[in-house]
Order: sequence, then structure tokens, then C-alpha cells
Amino acid sequence: MTDTADRVVVVTGGSRGIGRAICTALSAPGTVVYFNYSSNAEAAKATTEAIQAAGGKAFSQPVDVATPDAVNAWLGGIVKEAGRIDILVNNAGITRDGLLVRMKESDWDAVVDINLKGAFNCMKAVAKPMMKQRYGRIINITSVVGAAGNPGQANYVAAKAGIIGLTKAVAKELASRNITVNAVAPGYINTDMTNDLADKAKDAMIGQIPLARIGTPEDVAGTVAFLASSAADYITGQVIHVSGGMYM
Ligand code: NAP
Repeated sequence: MTDTADRVVVVTGGSRGIGRAICTALSAPGTVVYFNYSSNAEAAKATTEAIQAAGGKAFSQPVDVATPDAVNAWLGGIVKEAGRIDILVNNAGITRDGLLVRMKESDWDAVVDINLKGAFNCMKAVAKPMMKQRYGRIINITSVVGAAGNPGQANYVAAKAGIIGLTKAVAKELASRNITVNAVAPGYINTDMTNDLADKAKDAMIGQIPLARIGTPEDVAGTVAFLASSAADYITGQVIHVSGGMYM
């Protein structure tokens, strides 16, 4: 499925979980994968090794996606160095869960700034170079809860629903330049983000999944690789759910 050889790929939040699986799935001989992370350099090293094992070249650095100046410096530097950015995957995300009445303003701001504004910052920075080269594949990671809602996650759900709207608006803006913009909505995926759930809560969650298992980062990465490939050249503005049927 992956025909990303010789492509210049950018993945945000590539150090762990779904981001690492995406970096690996998009790697092939000749691919150059740039990824960022928040602070976990040790985890980033493992992603670098996975990219190299798949035949790609890897470059990584800590960059806060919520900070426009840092994003512009990072992505501007890549365009200077590599000459182009073909594929952008906006994957970086955090949760700060709590019921609305108890949610701190700082938890709202952090989640919206990283999960939604982070994607805006990165898309804005790559849009001009992609328009110039008349090619681009942008894939935004939203969530099943962005479509279905979830109690205790008002900030996260608002940001993920925002990603869906952002994806559709920018897909319409950039289509004439051969740039596609799509979203992938994972369900319940086994990563550090979901590790904290108690066994009872995990079992309850699995009970809501028709395919009756927790998803893997590779389940999500396969769909991202499809959207980045030429097999998806005629797909834009879409949201593909990878949730074992949790939301239909
Ligand atoms: P994860 O294991 O917690 O990894 C999060 C990644 O984002 C890490 O690489 C982290 O870097 C990076 N990151 C966090 N804040 C950042 C910032 N300000 N700037 C740049 N990078 C930052 O999460 P995951 O489960 O793989 O989730 C990946 C994406 O999928 C997220 O957008 C998440 O909302 C979405 N998603 C996940 C699930 C699920 O069940 N896991 C379901 C639906 C959607 P460090 O390693 O340095 O902290």
C-alpha cells in the first residue's frame, strides 16, 4: 500500500504510540521522515531506529506544535533543507480529562492549543510550499469522540470535532492545487494515552466495540499510509474511522 518512497514526510508527535507507527508505516527506502515530539528524547530514538530499519532517513527534534514561531522555524527549516514537504500528518495530541463543571481553564487551553491549534499551525506552515509544488497529502488525526462526543472530555472532544471541520475547510481551499486533506478517527487504541484506564473500564470499552478488541497503533497507521498513497489520490475532505465499528 505504501508508495511513499522518495517522499519527504512530516509527522507530529512521532516519538510514541500512533505517531511512531505512522512514521514506520510511511518509511521506505528513499523516504525522509521528519518528526517532532514534546520532550521524550528516549522514545524518539526508538522511532528513529524503526524508520531506519524500514529503509528511511529520520530527523527529529522537540518542537511544541502549539507555538507558531517554533513550528514555523521547524517546518521552514525542513523546506530549506529537503526542498519540499510531500506529506504532513498532524498526530500530536494530549488529554486533560474532567467533567465540564470541574474543568480548569488551563486544561481547556492546553488541549485545544496542542490538539487543534497545533494542527492549524502546521497546516498553515506547509500550505504555501505544497501549493507551489502542486502536490501535498495532509492527514489529521481526530478521534471517534470528535464525532460521537464523550463525557469528561469536553476539551478533547471540542478539539477533535474542530479538527474535522478544519480538515473539510482546508480540503476545499487546497484541492485545486492537488493537495488532499483527510482525517483519520481512531477509536480505542492501545497506547500510553489509554494505558491509565482501569481494567474494568477497559472491559466496558471493549464491550462497545463490534470487532471486540482494542485497536493497535498499526491499525491506524495502515489507514494513514493508504491516504498518503496514490491509491487515495481522489479522496479529500473525508474522515475515516478506525475504531472496530465503535462508531458507525
Ligand atoms: P501518546 O502515546 O500519548 O503520544 C502522544 C505524542 O504526541 C507523543 O509523541 C508526544 O511527545 C507528542 N506531543 C504531546 N504534546 C506535544 C506538543 N505540544 N508538541 C509536539 N508533540 C507533542 O498518544 P497516542 O495515543 O499515540 O495518540 C496520538 C494521536 O491519536 C493523538 O492526536 C490522539 O488524540 C489521537 N487518538 C488516540 C486514541 C487512543 O486511543 N490512543 C484514540 C483516538 C485518537 P512526547 O513523547 O515527547 O510526550
